[in-house]
Amino acid sequence: MSLKNKIAVYPGSFDPIHCGHIDIIQRISKLYDKVIVLVACSSQKMNLFTPEERKVLIEKTFKSTPNVSVDLFSGLVVDYLHEKNAHILVRGLRAVVDFEYEMSMANMNKKLDPEIETLLVFSSPEYYYLSSRGIKEIAMNRGNLKGMVSEEVEESLKNKFIKSSQSKGKI
Ligand code: ADP
Repeated sequence: MSLKNKIAVYPGSFDPIHCGHIDIIQRISKLYDKVIVLVACSSQKMNLFTPEERKVLIEKTFKSTPNVSVDLFSGLVVDYLHEKNAHILVRGLRAVVDFEYEMSMANMNKKLDPEIETLLVFSSPEYYYLSSRGIKEIAMNRGNLKGMVSEEVEESLKNKFIKSSQSKGKI
């Protein structure tokens, strides 16, 4: 079966996008005609960036990759795939700890729509330690994010944390 002529959808929080996500998207964009990075709006997580801000940061990162687009969604990912006539749902895998969660999500989605295949892509070794949560922790404490996020993301993180410390009267 050819992987070409197909749409791959990569859903997640991307709060914010980091080099681990970027690596997965770049690799997938070489296999599929079109990749849609889907930013979750209705996540139960407390996010630092609004869905629109997260979308813009991803769009800026992939402005020179024409087959990568970004969309927002709230609701079931399977419904989004159905709407787009897409069948491939991509998720990234870092360590064993990701595996159980991703397997149960894949099985739930399969139950909801048997036509959908979840494609689990291993993180490249140089990025397996990266998480959005860790990135925010480093940014909050003014650590060095070189090689972990794009310059735009680094700048946006700085602005967020400067604003939040100003509003708390720390600066
Ligand atoms: P979610 O809240 O849906 O887990 P994330 O934005 O944290 O969203 O991650 C989106 C996807 O990217 C998930 O499949 C996650 O496992 C994967 N991912 C996160 N960090 C990395 C990384 N460093 N390398 C590869 N994949 C990753």
